[in-house]
Amino acid sequence: MKVLKFGGTSVGSAERMKGVNQLINTEELKIQKRIIVLSAMSGTTNTLVQISEQLYAKNYPQAALIITEMELKYRKTIGELYKKDESKEKASNLLDAQFGHIRSLAKERERFSNLKERILLAKGEQLSTAMFQLFLEENGVESVLLDALEFMRIDENSEPEMDFIEEQLKIELEKYPDNLLFITQGYICKNSFGEIDNLKRGGSDYSASLIGAAVNAEEIQIWTDIDGMHNNDPRIVDKTMPVAQLSFDEAAELAYFGAKILHPSTITPAKAKNIPVRLLNTMAPHLKGTVITKDAADTNIKAVAAKDNITMINIRSTRMLLAYGFLRKVFEIFEKYKTSIDMVTTSEVCVSVTIDNIANLEQIINELEEFSSIEVNKNMSIVCVVGDLISERVGYAEEIFSSLSTVSIKMISYGGSKNNVSMLIDTQDKKAALQGLNKGLFKL
Ligand code: ASP
Ligand code: MG
Repeated sequence: MKVLKFGGTSVGSAERMKGVNQLINTEELKIQKRIIVLSAMSGTTNTLVQISEQLYAKNYPQAALIITEMELKYRKTIGELYKKDESKEKASNLLDAQFGHIRSLAKERERFSNLKERILLAKGEQLSTAMFQLFLEENGVESVLLDALEFMRIDENSEPEMDFIEEQLKIELEKYPDNLLFITQGYICKNSFGEIDNLKRGGSDYSASLIGAAVNAEEIQIWTDIDGMHNNDPRIVDKTMPVAQLSFDEAAELAYFGAKILHPSTITPAKAKNIPVRLLNTMAPHLKGTVITKDAADTNIKAVAAKDNITMINIRSTRMLLAYGFLRKVFEIFEKYKTSIDMVTTSEVCVSVTIDNIANLEQIINELEEFSSIEVNKNMSIVCVVGDLISERVGYAEEIFSSLSTVSIKMISYGGSKNNVSMLIDTQDKKAALQGLNKGLFKL
């Protein structure tokens, strides 16, 4: 079994959907069992978020306008996607039903709610998969549409329930023992209350990996609009190149620390079952992309990434210099407020940590101030250098820091894993840092 996931731009138009049909039905793939996971058409989830915002703000005419524009786009797409009148009619009925439902969620008389928002956000994937499956049907390609809401579930901490997913998916697949091609929605799931929920923005990658792990797939392919994971952020530096191979740990660090190509949790399920993840480009399917496997192919610096909106908290101990239990007290406060820490450095009298979720910053600071003095710096970025940085190999530090000679570095972290060196800088220095590293480490 293979799992192939196609992102928003890969299904972003009638033309692109036709392309996906070709990619999943090559001579080689045609004879294999495969599950295709689709995102919403590009722009759709953003539009659904906008509609929700308007509804929360009680801007009903504006919400209605956005819904109408969105529907027009979909009407245009189905006009281009299908040839036969029969398919056009089926697709039109599908849009009637789905947009009817969207309008019912947007009713002026009824208060908009978080649950309604989540039901609305699921529409993108429900539309793209149904439209695509209808397209396959029109073209005589046999396939089964699996409803992700039947098997994808998260618990009360928003963590996927792997056992449930595995069992339910097995039941669903066993209903069609002879079928080779399955289509399903990324991103959407149910929660522990049985309500519609989702795996957070960009979550279709995560869906694909969870599905891959659940069925013990031989490979998980993530198809996007770029030829793999790049060595640096293409939006910021001029020249970047795809990295041919990464280990699970390297890829996980890069995804977590800012590489936009992958949802940060994608690697975890694949790694647990040792399933290779291949990142491929829909626009250039012949290119090799990036393959992510258990071991790194070579010991080297592979890539850099940056994560913004980081807040640094400097905690200076007032009473208990170096006392044991101090770190526990500090970390317990972050745990209490469900705030995860990215970087930590310590000195004789201070601990500095970084966080990206500042929803509970005020309470955290209040509690920390009971036994320490606090300084907070916002608008920072973590720059992360990733590779197989085995400590026996000398010279990495010099290469990294000489590349950053013009940048003021606020924190440095290395040694937690042999895969990354992280540095905290002011976001305004990010461009200089990434460009410097591109020149110094990759000679680009
Ligand atoms: N459609 C969702 C989003 O835009 C999930 C995804 O595409 O991965 O965030
Ligand atoms: Mg994505």
